[in-house]
This record gives sequence, structure tokens and C-alpha cells, in this order.
Amino acid sequence: MASVKKPSQREDFEIVIICGLSLEFNAVSFLFDEFWDEDGDHYGRSSGDVNHYTTGRIGRYSVLLTLLAHMGKTHAASAAACIRSSYGGIRPALLVGICGGVPHAASGEDDEILLGDVIISKTVVQYDFGRLNPHKFIRMNTFEDNLGRPNKDIRNLLVTFETDIGLERLQRRTAYFLKQLQANAAGRKRQGRYSYPGTAEDKLFKPAYRHKHHMPCACICRDCNSIFDPVCDEAVDSSCKDLGCDNIYLEPRRRQLEEKRQLEQEKSDKAQEPTVHVGSIASGDMAMKSAEDRDRIARREGVIAFEMDGAGVWEELPCIVIKGVCDYADCQNNNRWQNFAAATAAAALNAILERYIQTDRIHKRVVDPSERELIIQGASRYSSEVRGEDVRQGNELQVSSSQSSRHYAQEGSYFGGIIRAAGSVVQGNKFSI
Ligand SMILES: [Zn+2]
Ligand SMILES: [Zn+2]
Repeated sequence: MASVKKPSQREDFEIVIICGLSLEFNAVSFLFDEFWDEDGDHYGRSSGDVNHYTTGRIGRYSVLLTLLAHMGKTHAASAAACIRSSYGGIRPALLVGICGGVPHAASGEDDEILLGDVIISKTVVQYDFGRLNPHKFIRMNTFEDNLGRPNKDIRNLLVTFETDIGLERLQRRTAYFLKQLQANAAGRKRQGRYSYPGTAEDKLFKPAYRHKHHMPCACICRDCNSIFDPVCDEAVDSSCKDLGCDNIYLEPRRRQLEEKRQLEQEKSDKAQEPTVHVGSIASGDMAMKSAEDRDRIARREGVIAFEMDGAGVWEELPCIVIKGVCDYADCQNNNRWQNFAAATAAAALNAILERYIQTDRIHKRVVDPSERELIIQGASRYSSEVRGEDVRQGNELQVSSSQSSRHYAQEGSYFGGIIRAAGSVVQGNKFSI
């Protein structure tokens, strides 16, 4: 798409992609059609901005990509505020990465959420913002305490994803970009990193089933018999496989997983295609690792997923949260899905970008004085401005000793350029426009 020009200034960027983890950043980086900072940063940042930016093009959009240094609401909010101060033209911020899904969140059989599915935020709920009284936690739930709705532009975009045709298109294109991302990764020696882990790895344990040492052990896991009993630290960090978590305690799954199993048996690559769900996302400073709390909060707030950065970004920038489901926000531990879920979210991001309609910008171009200097040679600087009715490409500008004019303008078009020469530029030289 050669028609996309590299932005000449920070204000020309309209889209920022924010990731909380390097594995999320890696997946998004495989979407880029080109990078604009291969030879270093060209855009700078405003004073006080501590973010690092990767710049480039995805499809027809110039995008910024930034990785949060730390997780959680406060860090995400301060990074988003920095983005706003450096890049004033940013419209939507797209927070892209992984989350914990609520498996049976929505009513109706069609709404089962599987690992690898993508969640798009209609709203973000700060479920952990409130008062902890001795008898119970009371969430602050007034109008001022809650995060606002997305702006109209984002709302209008999201509402199209809730129509049958809009959702079908989004899912179809997400599946397409997922395959493209996987191929790009394979081409850059990351073969297999974003492969679909398979339905056999999509394990939803019963809420009360504990993730602990199930084999004979000397640790406190031995006395863990109810959801209130502690488990040892080693168990928390170990995988279900290492602990011996037993598949007989898996929840029976509904139609969608069965359909995927069928596709897998037919060796169809459609098995990996994620379903996209649009709904409310719970955002808090703690990672949700409890099936009981997950289900209780999901019922109370109507949320379908849990993550940690959305609330911070949401407060500072118009934002869409796009997250791939890598676990079920319970105590079980299976890291197999993280890369794949990051890839499905990145693929959905690309599909959303495709539907996002760019807004006409009114360019209030401020010409940096240094841009007026056409020739710099040693301590000598030669500036020039040509104004004319009939100036075209191919015309030549003669370097003269006249210093009275400045840069080159014709009916709102600006032609800037600097020639740097070691010692061979003299008055009388010509250069082509
Ligand atoms: Zn243990
Ligand atoms: Zn387990």
C-alpha cells in the first residue's frame, strides 16, 4: 500500500497500540507491514514522556506501538497520559493482549467463551474500586466512580460488530490475519510459536477443583480439601500437568468446543479460528485467579473477561481493549495459550483497523525554522522560498546569495528539503524539485 506516507510529524499519528507484556508486543509486531524506526527514532517525544515507541505502518495506518514498563492501572494511566502529551492526534488507543475469560458469562449457549477467543470491550469496569468493610467489599458505583462510555466514534464502530454481518466479517478477517501472522512469524524463525494449542489443551476445571499437589506430598497441599484451604507456593507457580490436576474434574463443554474438536479431526485449520465477543471487561490491579470470585463478579457486573491495564488507559485516551483469552481466570495454571491468545488479539486488532474509518485531518502545519534551510554547509546556511503560480516537479531552484526568502510554498503545498554537503556546494548550483 504505497499510498501511505510516512508521517512527517508526531501529530500525524492517529492510532496507538499499547501492550502490557512483551509477548503481546511480539505478536503485534508481526502485523507491521513496515517499520519507520529501523534506523532510529524520527519523532522524539514531549518533555516528561518516558514511553518508548515503535513506529510503522499496518495496512493503511501509521501506528505507534508501545510496551508498558509495568502492569496495572496506575502505570497504564501514566503511560497513556504521556502518549497524549507527545502525540496529540491520537484518536483511539488500542490496548491489545491477553486476558482471563469468563467461560459461561453470557446467557445462551452460543456465548460460551473458549481459550483463544477474542474479547472486545464495550465498557471497562473497575470491579476492585471500592470500600473494604469488615463484613464485605462494597464497590463504588456512582456515576462519577465508574469509567465513562467510549466516545461516539468508538461506540459507532463497536455497534457494527454487534450486528450479524459486522461480526461475521470481523471474525472472518481475524482468522485471515491470524494465518498471516503465523506465516510472518514462521518466516522470521518463530515457527510454531503462535500455533493453535488444540482442543485437548482447552481445559475448564470445575470451579471448586483446586490447583495443588495432587500426588502424595509433604507440603500443605496435603491438607487442602476445600476452596478456603491454602496450597503451597510451589503449586501456585506449577503447571496443571506437573501437579497432576485430573481431567475427570473438567467441566462438560458445550457446542463450540465440540465443533472445534470435529474440525480438528477433519484436520481443518478452521479449528483455530477464534470467536469474537463484544462485552464488558473487568479491569483490576490484581490478576483474577479464583473461579468463585470470577463467577460472582461476572454475575454482579455483567463482565465477560478480566484484565489489568484497561481501566488506566480508558481514563486517559479513547480506547478499545482487544484481548485474547489465555485462561479462565481461575487458579489453574496452563501457559500454553498465551502466545496463541496474543496472536488472536493482534489479528482482531488488524481486522478492527480495517473497519476503522480514518478521519480527515485539518493540518495546521507549523514549519520548523530548520526546515526552511535548504542547504547547510559548514557554518553557512542557505535558505530559500519560491512562490509562483506554475511551479512543478522538475523545476530547478538556483541557489543564490539572496537570504531574504524562506521555504518553498505553492498554494498550501510545502516543499521542504535539506541538502547537506561536505564542501562542494557553491552558489550557482542548482537542485531539482
Ligand atoms: Zn504443594
Ligand atoms: Zn491445575
